[in-house]
Amino acid sequence: MTTAEKTPLTPVPSGDHPGTFIGGAWLDRTTSFPSVDPATGETFGHISASEVADVDRAVAAARAAARAWARTSPSERGAILGRWAGLVFQNMHRLAALEARNVGKPLSGGLLNVQIAGSILQFTAGGADKLTGATLPTRSPDFFGFTRREPHGVCAIVLPWNVPAVLFAANIGPALAAGNAVVLKPSEVAPLVIHALVELAEEAGLPAGVLNVLTGVGVELGATLVSHPGIDHISFVGSVATGRLVMQAAAQNLTPIKVELGGKSPNVVFADADLDVAVPAIVRSITENAGQNCNAGSRLLVQADVADEVRSRVVAAMSEIRIGAWHEDLDMGPLVNPVQHERVSGLVTGALGDGVELILGGERPTGRDGGNFLAPTVLSVTDRSAPIVGQEIFGPVLTVETFTDDADALALANGTDFGLLACIWTNDVSRALRMSSEIGAGQISVNQFSDAGVIGMPFNMAKQSGFSSGNGYRALYEFTREKAVAVKLLG
Ligand code: NAD
Repeated sequence: MTTAEKTPLTPVPSGDHPGTFIGGAWLDRTTSFPSVDPATGETFGHISASEVADVDRAVAAARAAARAWARTSPSERGAILGRWAGLVFQNMHRLAALEARNVGKPLSGGLLNVQIAGSILQFTAGGADKLTGATLPTRSPDFFGFTRREPHGVCAIVLPWNVPAVLFAANIGPALAAGNAVVLKPSEVAPLVIHALVELAEEAGLPAGVLNVLTGVGVELGATLVSHPGIDHISFVGSVATGRLVMQAAAQNLTPIKVELGGKSPNVVFADADLDVAVPAIVRSITENAGQNCNAGSRLLVQADVADEVRSRVVAAMSEIRIGAWHEDLDMGPLVNPVQHERVSGLVTGALGDGVELILGGERPTGRDGGNFLAPTVLSVTDRSAPIVGQEIFGPVLTVETFTDDADALALANGTDFGLLACIWTNDVSRALRMSSEIGAGQISVNQFSDAGVIGMPFNMAKQSGFSSGNGYRALYEFTREKAVAVKLLG
């Protein structure tokens, strides 16, 4: 990884942007929406909103560019992506500040995400010329059969707001490396870092029309994009509710689709776990990005023998979390907007009652009257049927439940509709491996929280968390379709 420039916070990010990028040109539109700092409520710029008619224009621009891009040599595509990754590393602090101010996360969180984004672009750059088909057995030597990996054509990519740079790179990198043209709709909530990343793509030499961007409200713009008959493949990252709508839209045109949705990931702590390692990781897993991560460790399942000790150590560590605005660069920032603040606070207060007890937080932290701040919150749960243990909260809210033995731990861990990540904390390798095969999740971590920052590890999902393998080499294959070619040798 390249070292970023040294001076943080220069320049302070602007929240102004045209937001619409079609056929290699940024276009101003007449209506706009504000960029709002989640820590203060202050408007720090405006982004002009793409028109619904821009969907047709963007799909046409992508279609016009798709064939030439697919026929560009894979090593040339990789070279452009590699130059782009280099520019991301060179501009790391500027990009990190944009993401941090827009989402509200501490600057160091933005930096980490931009580093990961640059590394993903670098990884996919290297994969562009390594996508291969296979030579297949045929009925006799007079026949020859092989498969070829081909790009889908024009891909629609729709993203959420929580980790925009990472999700951008994880989808755009493999899509472009595999030879697709793209129409991207970032979330209207926090698109600024994505706009800056796209400007760097231009600088790296990405041809006009290969990557187009529409910024605006999902129910209009996103829905129009994913229903468009000119789209050959859809990648959607977001909530389960929107994922269902997008899949319905895809069904109308029989458009192939991959979806990466929500989570309710457990940290499963056995009595033999190394608690000095486990407790800080558990706390970080639910406070990083203020709990607004799809793989947040939002459920703590702990063996009864050590439950009191783990609970009190987690509560003590969470009450020490330092909270502030993005530029204060403390441990945790605010929630992204007032809607999210109200939603998360409402879920917490609505959950309290028989079998669900508030043992930390649940309200604004002292001294943070403005903005969307919520203190780290812990709920102790004895009623296993309480809805809160299965709902994605998307905030710094941890539920704690206890289990007796391995079978009970498994029943709890598998007791939600989600299947993104499960973390197992134990010193018993046999138990860890047995759990890893029996827990229904796309990713398992043992004695650590998620390995998502390791670019080669697939970011897999199970159950209602979706289906895809983001990250890693296989992500490139998801942006291709396989063609089988059978030849009869004549003469
Ligand atoms: P969301 O579902 O509200 O929105 C996601 C995107 O879809 C946005 O760009 C939005 O504008 C767009 N959209 C909204 N309605 C649409 C429609 N009808 N048709 C097409 N597009 C539409 O999600 P969010 O609040 O932006 O993000 C939070 C969610 O994302 C959480 O559930 C989180 O778990 C999930 N997420 C998942 C992953 C993963 O890899 N599995 C990663 C990050 C976030």
